[in-house]
Amino acid sequence: MTARNTHARASAARAARAAATGLATLLLPLALTGCAGQPPTPEFAIRYEEPAPADAAEARFLRDRKLIEPVLADLNAYLALPHRVTVTARSCAGEGTGYDPAERLVELCYDDLTEDRELFDHAGSPHPDEDLAEVVRETIHHEAGHALADALDLALDDRAEEDAADRFAQLMLLRTGRPEGETTLLTAARAYDLAAEADPAPDPSDEHAPPATRAESHRCAVHGAAPARHPDLATPTRAHCATTWAETRSAWTRDLDPLLRR
Ligand SMILES: [Zn+2]
Repeated sequence: MTARNTHARASAARAARAAATGLATLLLPLALTGCAGQPPTPEFAIRYEEPAPADAAEARFLRDRKLIEPVLADLNAYLALPHRVTVTARSCAGEGTGYDPAERLVELCYDDLTEDRELFDHAGSPHPDEDLAEVVRETIHHEAGHALADALDLALDDRAEEDAADRFAQLMLLRTGRPEGETTLLTAARAYDLAAEADPAPDPSDEHAPPATRAESHRCAVHGAAPARHPDLATPTRAHCATTWAETRSAWTRDLDPLLRR
């Protein structure tokens, strides 16, 4: 199991861990909700928790580089959520990044960053910080896809929701045609490849598509959205990708219609 296997999860484990966590967890919600009695602003919001000592460097990396904030600003500019969804950066002791529908909470785990960094380090990447930053961006978009499937009551089964969350990340990262979004998806695809190499026998109970399938989905979307820009991605097996991308964009845009800012 690697950090690439992010997912939607039940809240029981999270609640148990929260109960065991210290004072910082108890105090932070006060800062988030603002004036007493005011409902929280319905938007994607961020909260950083103190890391476990082993996660201090990755927590600092995440916070100093402000990797999460621009992603949430982009989501909030595009979509009007019906309720608050909080992205909480925290130490998860290996439980794995995921979305908790009961709490409307994305948990982004500092310890997942350690695992993802190791993938790139072991592969001899010349710029693991940049690679890791791209993976974080893709991960937040994927988890936001779960939050939106929940907000829109899409009622997908586990695997279908995972695939939809990947396609939501593709929509957000490719819809404006910025090359930065393509880099994010291609780097995430590389991370899935590395995860597949590191763990060639994926857990059969994992609700996600196999990492190699997820990698190909991202590459197909990048190719399909701008076929001329990445001639290296133009293989015969990707002849369908322009159509697949158009379907991804129209399906998610249709589903998101009630929440789109006009
Ligand atoms: Zn997921």
